[in-house]
Amino acid sequence: MGAASANAGRYARRVQRERRFEGPSDLHLHSSHSDGTEPPAQVMAAAHRHGLHTAALTDHDTTSGWAEAAEAATSLGMTFVPGMELSARHRWRSVHLLAYLVDPDDTDLRSMTDRIRSSRLDRAQIMAERISHDYDIAWDDIVAQTTDGATVGRPHIADALVARGIVADRTEAFAGILHPSGDYYVALYAPDPVTAVELVVAAGGVPIIAHPAGRSLLPDSVLHAMLDAGLAGFELAHRENLPEPTALLADLATDRDLIVTGSSDYHGLGKPNIPGENTTADDMVERIFTRGRGTSPVFP
Ligand code: AMP
Ligand code: FE
Ligand code: FE
Ligand code: ZN
Repeated sequence: MGAASANAGRYARRVQRERRFEGPSDLHLHSSHSDGTEPPAQVMAAAHRHGLHTAALTDHDTTSGWAEAAEAATSLGMTFVPGMELSARHRWRSVHLLAYLVDPDDTDLRSMTDRIRSSRLDRAQIMAERISHDYDIAWDDIVAQTTDGATVGRPHIADALVARGIVADRTEAFAGILHPSGDYYVALYAPDPVTAVELVVAAGGVPIIAHPAGRSLLPDSVLHAMLDAGLAGFELAHRENLPEPTALLADLATDRDLIVTGSSDYHGLGKPNIPGENTTADDMVERIFTRGRGTSPVFP
């Protein structure tokens, strides 16, 4: 905790306001601070290699990778956008809320992310225990796949199953052993989507629903309650979005003049997603920068 706040302080001192940025922009990438396979500096290097000029780091339920990512991005001449992908849940359905430019020291948001991450750890241990009845795998195998302090998730269990030769890759693990309908699955604690939006707004951030147009769209009532709470927009260009629900949300975004984004959701070797495979338009990035008050983008 002490080290983390010192880090955040150092981070806050190097941010600057009122500078222009350049596209192309990819606003959703993960590092080994959550379930990406590369450290933040390497993620920014990958973004740079793929021709991006602006990139966000949006690890699940943590901001701990920001300082390293900001340093790496700016030294490569890129603009860095601090972000996070906050876990939420509506009934059985997990909802991912991108939170840009939040204050990393906001007390309420921090206690929520602390609670989620601690529940993720308990849940991973229970899942590992259940899986160990049928497969040769132990908690140490999962620990070996995570870096210290990382947000633990099913991807780390998947990597442990791969390392043990039980499955070929994360995809196979998610389709089978780790599937929510299976016997080993345990849900993690996460706030309801409206509470998640309220927390992000109160922390000065810009809340945008990640990959909102998958197989099961959130009910209209929940979407509208989220909008009433300050939801800023939707990540419409994402490989997991399907055409029909995407079109519905695009209409809603036009009606309500919402922010729409596009991004890769890069996870290093953990997914086939490539930096820059989808990008966010410059005017939308500007709107996020104007609206975010919790911290600032970091310019080269
Ligand atoms: P969790 O939040 O621990 O339940 O795990 C969900 C995470 O697993 C998401 O953030 C995704 O990045 C990742 N994930 C989901 N499905 C797959 C898949 N088929 N292959 C690789 N990663 C996946
Ligand atoms: Fe992920
Ligand atoms: Fe996600
Ligand atoms: Zn993501």
